[in-house]
Amino acid sequence: MSNITLGIIGGGQLGSMLAIAAKKLGIKIIIFCDDLEAPAQNFCDEFIGAKYDDKEKINEFVNKVDIVTYEFENIPYETLNDINKLKPVLPKPSVNRLIQHRLAEKDFVNKLNIRTTRYVSIENQSDIDVLEDFLPGIIKTTTLGYDGKGQHPVSSSEELKNLKLDLSRGYILEKLVKLKKEISIIITRFSNNKYEIYEPIENTHEDQILKHSKIPADINEKIFNQSKDWAILIAEELKYVGTLCVEFFIDRNDNLYVNEIAPRVHNSGHLTINAFNVSQFENHIRAVCGLEQIPLKKLSNAKMINLLGDQISHYRNSPKLKDNEFFFDYLKKEIKDKRKMGHITILE
Ligand code: ADP
Ligand code: MG
Repeated sequence: MSNITLGIIGGGQLGSMLAIAAKKLGIKIIIFCDDLEAPAQNFCDEFIGAKYDDKEKINEFVNKVDIVTYEFENIPYETLNDINKLKPVLPKPSVNRLIQHRLAEKDFVNKLNIRTTRYVSIENQSDIDVLEDFLPGIIKTTTLGYDGKGQHPVSSSEELKNLKLDLSRGYILEKLVKLKKEISIIITRFSNNKYEIYEPIENTHEDQILKHSKIPADINEKIFNQSKDWAILIAEELKYVGTLCVEFFIDRNDNLYVNEIAPRVHNSGHLTINAFNVSQFENHIRAVCGLEQIPLKKLSNAKMINLLGDQISHYRNSPKLKDNEFFFDYLKKEIKDKRKMGHITILE
């Protein structure tokens, strides 16, 4: 047991699951979130609800905690950097700034000689005329996107012009990969060459939102090894501390691409709660709080199903589960279409 107080910025389901893992380790959790209805307030020791630029409330938060981490990447760099002057913020604010910007993130990955989709920055109308190489593609905002928000598939420059996007806010156009499969790797790095890495997880998306995750992923040995090697290289290069997720594409010719990096615990890793001796959440807490690193052991194969929108109602009303089934309700008050409301993990 320790007497560390850990501050978490963000109070969604990831914050809740981090708080649950921390409790098991005897760590006190204070959550700071701009959503007064944030579900994680049900699981933490103390909750501070305020805007991310509310200096007074941020100060109150910082004074109460020993270390700060975060559960989502779209936090202003200035906020994280200011906090870091007073208490350690992990992962480092500079890492978050790099990854929250799709262009900077992809440039970084390419410099490591790791394949990504082909991409081009779109900032004004004249950029649109020279795009043939990148079509058909997907245009995405460079910042603030998640669950497919801020993305549009495009097959011609005409179509792109017709979207009438405000290009000045910054967009990236990515060539569409003919997908065979998507996988992710979750890795928790403690310090130089000290990390715990989970096996590749196979992910299925519907409408650009994660629907299913499972282990083992049905992939060949080369992809199994390459995805792990690339995730390790990325984590080491960033001198990352904590849990990180790398999302990958596999095309129809079995080429592997890094899609994006999430500087945090990840939805595809929820199955680690039941399928491993140490979950991605516990590992994150262990790494950022400087606790002992425990060798990972798989306990079972598993499958995780996200419950979106009113799919949750069925499980809330009839909680009859088999011994190998685990239901998590994120306790979000409002059911919204396609909103992640909970998940089921089935051990197989
Ligand atoms: P988000 O930040 O919303 O997760 P992603 O860039 O990961 O954004 O895109 C969400 C999903 O959309 C991906 O997991 C994939 O299924 C699909 N997608 C995105 N970009 C491409 C692409 N270049 N080629 C093929 N599919 C893509
Ligand atoms: Mg993604």
